[in-house]
Amino acid sequence: MRKPLIAGNWKMNGSLALLETMKQALSSARVSSDVDVAIIPPFTLLMSAGKILAGSSAGIGAQTLHPESSGAYTGEISASMLAECGVRYVLVGHSERRTLFAEDDQAVLARVKAALGAGLVPVLCVGETLEERETDRVETVVLGQVSTVIDALSAEERSRLVIAYEPVWAIGTGRTATPDQAQQVHAMIRSWLSDKDLALGESMRLLYGGSMKADNAADLLSRPDIDGGLIGGASLKPDDFIAICHAAG
Ligand code: 13P
Repeated sequence: MRKPLIAGNWKMNGSLALLETMKQALSSARVSSDVDVAIIPPFTLLMSAGKILAGSSAGIGAQTLHPESSGAYTGEISASMLAECGVRYVLVGHSERRTLFAEDDQAVLARVKAALGAGLVPVLCVGETLEERETDRVETVVLGQVSTVIDALSAEERSRLVIAYEPVWAIGTGRTATPDQAQQVHAMIRSWLSDKDLALGESMRLLYGGSMKADNAADLLSRPDIDGGLIGGASLKPDDFIAICHAAG
């Protein structure tokens, strides 16, 4: 059985005060131990998140990393630095990184490898734009993004990955993929993975992201191939985030 993962991507938002409020909300909420929870704040809050969330069941994630382990890369952060902060998960290939920071599939792959090398869990984000959906290219785009990474990893490395399907048109727009639309893409990804390696298809956690909220989470999460959520806006509201965690377990 795949354990659901609910991860809150704070993007360039949040504060120490929000970490404290989130910690209190998580402590009193009694989220099922059958659900993994992760908070993914900006870099500047990672150290504090480690301390503040230490007593809670939430893991900590980072939003990106540099593929090199060290060197003259002003402003960048490496995988081993994240590991030293107690980080467990790291987002790779988020659509905002792909579009705003020009990270192509090879840049994404290099980051996935760096994350795996430091013992982190890469959360590989994939998803099509509206134009790609409207021109029937969902399968080509999404499986292209997945295969560039999966085909370059060993079986052991693949088993440590999480994949998040985030249709670009649903991110921050309030326009969620319907549960049927999301399930369809998740099933397609899983079937592609299973063709490659049956055990991989069975075990890979596939998260949905894109305007997931307290009031649509249960429906999305009830679908057989949706194993959790990558939450943006709603993860900044502790009550909403907790409601989504409850919907997962
Ligand atoms: P929203 O939930 O705000 O649409 O963001 C989704 C996202 O990009 C999570 O990584």
